[in-house]
Amino acid sequence: MATDRDYYSVLGVERSATDAEVKKAFRRLAQQWHPDVNKDAEAPDRFKEINEAYQVLSDTDQRQRYDMFGKAGVGNGAGGGAGFDPGFAGFGDIFDAFFGGGATQTRRGRPAAGSDLRYDLRITFEEAVHGTEKEIEFPVLGRCETCHGSGAKPGTAPVTCPQCNGRGEIRQIRQTMLGQMVAASPCPRCRGEGRVVESVCDGCHGEGRLERKRNLRVAIPPGIDEGHQVRLANEGEAGPRGGPPGSLYVAVHVTAHPTLKREGTELIYETAISIAQAALGTRVKVPMVEGEEEIEIKAGTQPGTEIRLRGKGVPHVRRPGSRGDLHVFVSVAVPTKLNKKQREALLAYADASEETVHEGGIFDRVRDALG
Ligand SMILES: [Zn+2]
Ligand SMILES: [Zn+2]
Repeated sequence: MATDRDYYSVLGVERSATDAEVKKAFRRLAQQWHPDVNKDAEAPDRFKEINEAYQVLSDTDQRQRYDMFGKAGVGNGAGGGAGFDPGFAGFGDIFDAFFGGGATQTRRGRPAAGSDLRYDLRITFEEAVHGTEKEIEFPVLGRCETCHGSGAKPGTAPVTCPQCNGRGEIRQIRQTMLGQMVAASPCPRCRGEGRVVESVCDGCHGEGRLERKRNLRVAIPPGIDEGHQVRLANEGEAGPRGGPPGSLYVAVHVTAHPTLKREGTELIYETAISIAQAALGTRVKVPMVEGEEEIEIKAGTQPGTEIRLRGKGVPHVRRPGSRGDLHVFVSVAVPTKLNKKQREALLAYADASEETVHEGGIFDRVRDALG
């Protein structure tokens, strides 16, 4: 493992060193300590330490954090997450070949996974609230049943790749400015899988998978909302030649309710009552998830009043048994047109309340005269 030496002393530069000086020092030391060139037992560790120091000091941002906070400021100090200087093309390969890590390492020697799929499913407002089960049908690359996904003709089996001897990668020795280098790349013959199919399956031409229609029943939990996704592991595309399958994501779209507005677990209903109803009280019908219900509006209800119907909202999708509320917002509509009887009643009301009203204007008089 790399020691805890200061990065500047690892590279043998001053703290005030310029980027060019850091780079120059790194190149010299990397050449000197590269394990391909230097057979000293401590060469791999020294080389790794040099790399780690360079990754931090060659990055303006990282170097600043290192200067301020030391190694704590630049991650765990292993340098695993930091990128390489793009000026050293292919250096990542060399590093991986010696020290492991990186994407090529973890995927080497086995087939790739299948892709994830997305299915867009539209359901009604009621189905979203109560939950439902839906049968869906979609085209998918599924496992070839003739060869059971191996891609090999029945009776035969994939064999170890002769080009890479099953390693899944090809190592090449190259001469570079750092000296002799070993670069690893995925084997082109077996695509990094380490095994090849010699006599291919007629059904899938060696792919191990075929496009077909699949039917699935999808359970939609109560309380699901627009934009939510239901993940079905292993129901995505099959991987090539026996690789693991991807996931299926069912993206849910919910058709809106004609009069109820939904915000998460809360439902909102807006109703307008008349002045008389607000003053005297009334009953109004409120649409609910489970049919309609009549609620009482008390005498003297003010515009903008909210009536909260507890537990009449939408179930919480992650907390079964818990349900939101239904909020009824009451507005009071002031009439813009009055018939004669209504007008007389309101004038009588104003009179009884000793209120001044704008009564008997020129237009009203003309209208009264016309009958
Ligand atoms: Zn097949
Ligand atoms: Zn191979």
